[in-house]
Amino acid sequence: MANTSFLQLSPRAQRLLKTTQDFVEQECIPAEAIYFAQMAPIGSTDRWLVVPPIIEQLKAKAKELGLWNLFLPKIYPEGPGLTNLEYALLCEVLGRSFIAPEATNTAAPDTGNMEVLAKYGNQKQKDKWLKPLMEGKIRSAFCMTEPAVASSDATNIRTAISREGDSYVITGRKWWISGAGDPRCKIYLVMGKHHGSKEEPHRQQSVVLVPADTPGITVVRPLPVFGYDDAPHGHCEILFENVRVPAENMILGEGRGFEIIQGRLGPGRIHHCMRAIGMASRALDYHLNRATDPARKTFGKLLHQHGSAAHELALSRIELEQARLMVLKAADTIDLHGPKKAMVEIAMAKVVVPTMALKVMDRAIQAHGAAGVSNDIPLAYMYASMRTLRIADGPDEVHIRQIAQTELKRAAQVKDQLKHKEERERSLRSRL
Ligand SMILES: Cc1cc2nc3c(=O)[nH]c(=O)nc-3n(C[C@H](O)[C@H](O)[C@H](O)COP(=O)(O)OP(=O)(O)OC[C@H]3O[C@@H](n4cnc5c(N)ncnc54)[C@H](O)[C@@H]3O)c2cc1C
Repeated sequence: MANTSFLQLSPRAQRLLKTTQDFVEQECIPAEAIYFAQMAPIGSTDRWLVVPPIIEQLKAKAKELGLWNLFLPKIYPEGPGLTNLEYALLCEVLGRSFIAPEATNTAAPDTGNMEVLAKYGNQKQKDKWLKPLMEGKIRSAFCMTEPAVASSDATNIRTAISREGDSYVITGRKWWISGAGDPRCKIYLVMGKHHGSKEEPHRQQSVVLVPADTPGITVVRPLPVFGYDDAPHGHCEILFENVRVPAENMILGEGRGFEIIQGRLGPGRIHHCMRAIGMASRALDYHLNRATDPARKTFGKLLHQHGSAAHELALSRIELEQARLMVLKAADTIDLHGPKKAMVEIAMAKVVVPTMALKVMDRAIQAHGAAGVSNDIPLAYMYASMRTLRIADGPDEVHIRQIAQTELKRAAQVKDQLKHKEERERSLRSRL
């Protein structure tokens, strides 16, 4: 288990960390095989109707242990009062299991959506949607990406939102909408554009609450990731045809969509990174186990006794710890200065962590030979899921662009410093 002794954790956070570790290792990870076995067979339509019953048992257990909604930071009265740094350590442990996030009501995209409602929702919206989400009674989806436009630049979003009397009418096509396959998914947060708006490009979008059973909505198909359907949750294509919702479903106000996605994606991205650290640490455990398996010798030696194999294990540990420190620093910066001021730290972690996790997983797969790419062990599924994280919540290049822009802002100051240094050197030389 990862070392946290260098952090000054409160006694409560230490207790929660230990309880989370026990819950994940003793309850969630052993329950994964049951969870997957309880799902309807691949290809059957029931796959999108049946939620494995074991998840409800785990949810009840998590509530009993006080491991519920831990993600919502200290600033919200609805939350459990942890800092982002404290939650980062717990989230990392939760990320080791495919099902622990849902079992503790800390799974994406619900956490991001709950944070939006807690931060920007009015009381009525909170009562109607935040409350059942926080109780784990319903699930939600965030609908931004569209097949017809390059959605990593959200100013391209085309889905139309237009005001008609006391309603908003929404028309457009979205895809890769995570969670929309789940029968418990009852609410969509839909980002759209007010066509004809005279506002500047970042003030033309809004986010509206759309109940999933509103007439005019068709969930067209689930989109598999490298063949994995992620049922019953799924990533779906959704068609909105003249979908009418009451005007009171607008979040924050017309034209505030960018503000909302910035507020949502910051914490959401760092949660993905925390979970990815946990998943990578589990992959490294598999790697270590295989490299030291006494039953598997090649050319007279165990795997780890070949220098290059031991080297690979060490590299994974080094890279994992580097990335982990970046995530913890980003979480601490959010606590100290708020998510807006932590944007660069979050962006850097979002670029580094998935790439690191993929390398760690790839080495673990390689050490397992053909078994590594099978479904007998979870490494192939881990790898497929992790690969999406270099694209989802903003592709690497978009974060790198943001980091570069911030870095470039230092250029004038650096030039001044260098000029000053040269002047000082000249002045010192002239005195010799
Ligand atoms: C498993 C999964 C789950 C997802 N869940 C959701 C969800 O729940 N809700 C939702 O709304 N969306 C979701 N998405 C969609 C995801 O957020 C988008 O795919 C992502 O924002 C990229 O948008 P795009 O696919 O339109 O790619 P595009 O915008 O077309 O970009 C394509 C590629 O262009 C390159 N690129 C883009 N900008 C730059 C640049 N500035 N410099 C250099 N290269 C650049 C990048 O390599 C990028 O991958 C999910 C995606 C996946 C794979």
